[in-house]
Amino acid sequence: MEPARTEPLCPRTPEGARRNERHALKVDRIATQLRRRKSTAPLSRKKRTVSHQVPKVRDRKHSDEKIDLLDLDEVIEIDTQKRICIAEPGVPFCELVEQTLPLGFVPIVVPELKTITIGGAVAGCSIESMSYKYGGFHDTCLEYEIITARGDVLTCTPENEHALIFQMMHGSFGTVGILSRLVFRLVPAKPFVHLHHEHHRSIDSYLESIWAHYERQDVDFMDGIIHSPTYLSLCVGVFTDSAPYTSRYDWLKIYYQSTAKRREDYLETPYYFYRYDQGVTNVHPKSFLGRLLLGKFLGSSEILTIAEKLRWLVLDDKRPDVTVDTFLPFSRLKEFLLWYAEDFGHFPLWVVPYRRVHDYEWLTDRFWKGMDDELLIDIAIYGMKQRGQTNYYRLMEQKLQELNGVKTLISYNYYPEDEFWQIFHRKNFEAVKAITDPDNIFRDLYQKTCKAAMGQD
Ligand SMILES: Cc1cc2nc3c(=O)[nH]c(=O)nc-3n(C[C@H](O)[C@H](O)[C@H](O)COP(=O)(O)OP(=O)(O)OC[C@H]3O[C@@H](n4cnc5c(N)ncnc54)[C@H](O)[C@@H]3O)c2cc1C
Repeated sequence: MEPARTEPLCPRTPEGARRNERHALKVDRIATQLRRRKSTAPLSRKKRTVSHQVPKVRDRKHSDEKIDLLDLDEVIEIDTQKRICIAEPGVPFCELVEQTLPLGFVPIVVPELKTITIGGAVAGCSIESMSYKYGGFHDTCLEYEIITARGDVLTCTPENEHALIFQMMHGSFGTVGILSRLVFRLVPAKPFVHLHHEHHRSIDSYLESIWAHYERQDVDFMDGIIHSPTYLSLCVGVFTDSAPYTSRYDWLKIYYQSTAKRREDYLETPYYFYRYDQGVTNVHPKSFLGRLLLGKFLGSSEILTIAEKLRWLVLDDKRPDVTVDTFLPFSRLKEFLLWYAEDFGHFPLWVVPYRRVHDYEWLTDRFWKGMDDELLIDIAIYGMKQRGQTNYYRLMEQKLQELNGVKTLISYNYYPEDEFWQIFHRKNFEAVKAITDPDNIFRDLYQKTCKAAMGQD
């Protein structure tokens, strides 16, 4: 067996080498700033694109001192022979696809909002219709360069002495260290995607079809929209070299609605990746007239930027709308959907099958021992109004524990601390923080996602 690599993977072209030298200067600037910093007050990141976490009125990150990562947004090398890419964390997926697709490749698992960055996809969460084969974008990564809070620069791979740091970077929400460079795999791609929308009338036939495609691995893409408990669309797609026509859903037409009406569709690959950029099931502008006048100018990036800037005016931290991704074991999905229809009843829902590629070290052994499923399902709720006095986020947190599920931490989190650490692996976080952030200037995962995000420190 090859010894674990400690040296970073290097670009193989002169242009790549030049970009890598430029990158090293940026890393040196950031590392020096951290080494010289005496304060142990919390530190947050400044990056070029807007954050794709649910904006919160009192999120402490707005008042934190910032470390400037604005220029860490370059692709260093696309190696079509090795089918890998070396890039900086601030590269948005839309710019990455613009560079790789003309070469016949795309990154694996391209999240649906255009300006989600590759660094945010690793440190936060990443899921899309390739996930039924590959898990998340982070599961396709081979190496991370991480700058610690004290300015050390580490090369982390799944095999080397920093393997635990590598694994804990995903879902750490920036609490482990600064991701400054990534190496990840690419897959061959074609200019178009040919879609089939299966229309199911029952949960049973829906789950049967999801499992059949999963077992056969016969499509490149699989996701779905549950329009109601008795109308469930499963959208499966394959790359193609040509298309008799192509549809676009970036202005007047709404993609999720097309999955109920159409049985077949063709999209150019980039328009397929961003079919939900105006919102998955919570589309903005909502009205046809609004889309006619503003739809061309208002994608997720603009909507989130406006929401963040006007958060005191447009957001309500006391009774926020419910926007959350939940992960369920495949075997518990029917039970969940029957309960959900009763207690929540908000439709449509987004459905994304997600392969259990790796038992992530940031979740407790208890979580993984609780299931033997090889397939998880992400059920995403967007923009549900809360009713009465019920805290639906908390209701969901409790139900997910009952069904051995988990939710992403990108939205509102109400876990009591002891309950939180029964799900998220405290020992592993403490082990890596002891190396990467002993003064806790990036906060710990509970503090950051359940307290500081809600304005409490
Ligand atoms: C409406 C909505 C819909 C969404 N839909 C999807 C979806 O379909 N699929 C999906 O995969 N995700 C989805 N997301 C979630 C989103 O992808 C994640 O929140 C992702 O982490 C955002 O990435 P970003 O590039 O915007 O990073 P940010 O939001 O800026 O950062 C995300 C987290 O990563 C940390 N971080 C960012 N860069 C670095 C770095 N260089 N080093 C260390 N830490 C860093 C930040 O501190 C933060 O905690 C959705 C989010 C929203 C709000």
